[in-house]
Amino acid sequence: MSIAQNLEKILNKLLNTSCKLVAVTKTHPVEVLMQAYSAGYKIYGENKVQELVDKYEQMPKDIEWHMIGHLQSNKVKYIVPFVSLIHSIDSVSLLKEVNKQAAKVDKVVNCLLQVYIATEETKFGLAEDELLAFLASDELKSFKNVKIVGLMGMASNTDSKDQVRKEFKSLKATFEKVKNNFESENVVMKELSMGMSGDYAIAIEEGSTLIRVGSAIFGNR
Ligand SMILES: *Cc1c(COP(=O)(O)O)cnc(C)c1O
Repeated sequence: MSIAQNLEKILNKLLNTSCKLVAVTKTHPVEVLMQAYSAGYKIYGENKVQELVDKYEQMPKDIEWHMIGHLQSNKVKYIVPFVSLIHSIDSVSLLKEVNKQAAKVDKVVNCLLQVYIATEETKFGLAEDELLAFLASDELKSFKNVKIVGLMGMASNTDSKDQVRKEFKSLKATFEKVKNNFESENVVMKELSMGMSGDYAIAIEEGSTLIRVGSAIFGNR
């Protein structure tokens, strides 16, 4: 199947839901992305700063770019001027740097807090107790140039659909907890970013509003 057909198949599954697709383009060259762009798609996600910047520079300017991967503080300045949403805020110090760089360019940058839901050791993110402590802190209120608009999580890389569903349910419950207890001027919970090529169908059932899908559209990396 072509990229356009893969894209259409996934977009059809999102009809009548409030979930949107972030097409994950990492490792694929601009020529490949342009096939999706030509098919009309304009929301893309990258997990590396250098690739995100290179593709932003080379591609049409009506694209909405999302940063989905682990972000180092010293690289924040390169993406803040153009990024639409950062999915991967996993520390207070990182959010502080985004706030600082956003203030320099007079922007308010939308961010998701990445929550650790998988059983694996290797995934980045905040544990639920760290997340809740952070949301209750006064420091967060002083960040005028960032807005927390939701949460992001990655399920375990496992064949067990039950395990994956359990992890998505737990993230959704955390999302509701934050929405009900911690909303403020710069915490407005709207987005729940969960679901990738292997598990997006489950994620949609469990309330995802943003699925991040790469290989099911662009092929294996
Ligand atoms: C690569 C990546 C994805 C997409 O993975 P696929 O399995 O190719 O769909 C989603 N989220 C993050 C954070 C990624 O790095």
